[in-house]
Amino acid sequence: MASGNHIFQALQTKAIHAGEKPDLATRASSPSIVMSSSFVTDAETPFSAENLQDQTTFFYTREGNPTVQQLEQKLAALEDAEACVAFSSGMAAISALMFHMLKPGDHMVMSDVAYVGAAELMKGLIPSLNIQVTRVNTTDLEAVQAAILPHTKLVHIETPCNPIVRLSDIQAIAEITHAAGAKLSVDSTFATPVATQPIKLGADFVIHSLSKYLCGHGDAIGGAVLGASDEMLAMRHLLIHLGGALSPFNAWLIMRGITTLPIRMKAHEDNALKVARFLEAQPQVKQVTYPGLATHPQHELAKRQMSNFSGMIAFQTKNPSAVAQAFSEHLQIVHYAVSLGHQRSLIYYISTQEMLETSFTFNQLQADNYRSFAGDGVFRLSVGLEDVEDICKDLERSITKA
Ligand SMILES: *Cc1c(COP(=O)(O)O)cnc(C)c1O
Repeated sequence: MASGNHIFQALQTKAIHAGEKPDLATRASSPSIVMSSSFVTDAETPFSAENLQDQTTFFYTREGNPTVQQLEQKLAALEDAEACVAFSSGMAAISALMFHMLKPGDHMVMSDVAYVGAAELMKGLIPSLNIQVTRVNTTDLEAVQAAILPHTKLVHIETPCNPIVRLSDIQAIAEITHAAGAKLSVDSTFATPVATQPIKLGADFVIHSLSKYLCGHGDAIGGAVLGASDEMLAMRHLLIHLGGALSPFNAWLIMRGITTLPIRMKAHEDNALKVARFLEAQPQVKQVTYPGLATHPQHELAKRQMSNFSGMIAFQTKNPSAVAQAFSEHLQIVHYAVSLGHQRSLIYYISTQEMLETSFTFNQLQADNYRSFAGDGVFRLSVGLEDVEDICKDLERSITKA
């Protein structure tokens, strides 16, 4: 951790200053991008990653880079984590954590609804390595408890989860997980450290897709895992061998994005609450799920666990295929596109049937719960930073063409 970080108490100050140091050679106030794959070394420098210790000197950018390190230190400060390892994408971060935590013969418990890439990894490659995966509705604490086995090593949750914005109780699940001698990882991409700091609530690992709110501008992909220093040293060895290193240029873009994260999240939340209320009043809209609405089935948990309700809304409409078609053809401000957390509003339709064929495996109770949020399909709306009246008018103009 950079010396002086104890001075940066508030999140807004950490977002701007943590990890950044004026350049020693030029005294530039802004961080410089070190676009170098190699670093000039002395003759005694060991060659193997096995000898990698503290990152005080640099050797090769896959093992560590000054710009990437600044981003890692900023993220660690924001999450109150001992250490952070950045990756080339959120999925590179998730897959590396799975390889770190799970060996053949181990068992993991995972939320039955999660980001599709993670759901598909845990459906295909991970079980093929003789690692057992149990999917549970992690809003149901008894189901989480019942899923734990003697060889459970990891519980992996996402809150709020992609795409239905359902929450899981981090503190309660951390207690169940730790009582079983396992570790808890929380994908906190939808929440961001502005809303929730999972490590303070007992999580062992926090995962972020930096491609979303942290970058915030839809122009760079990245990922991160945060946790205890010894675990993160092991993760760095894995990064060196699996190879998903973040480009220093992307690290710089993401770091620049993070400096405005607290004020952006406030604006995302303000806009999302207004858009959620607007959607609730539309005759074509059947159901709106947003943690900041009293109608969210877990609004009490949201108030306890999230100090910002973020900008993600899930909603159902009548005739969803026709509405999806109308949105893709007629929206002029909101982009009909995947991803989320950008300054631009983004919307995408996720069909329940398609998710069941490709990504999710439910028992009847789990399917019923998913359908209570998503019906036959759900629109995932990432409310951006445009004028909120303009966003609402754009949605209204397009939905009436369905
Ligand atoms: C997008 C996303 C990911 C994957 O991140 P990439 O950077 O696209 O690899 C993981 N988890 C959640 C919750 C996401 O929304």
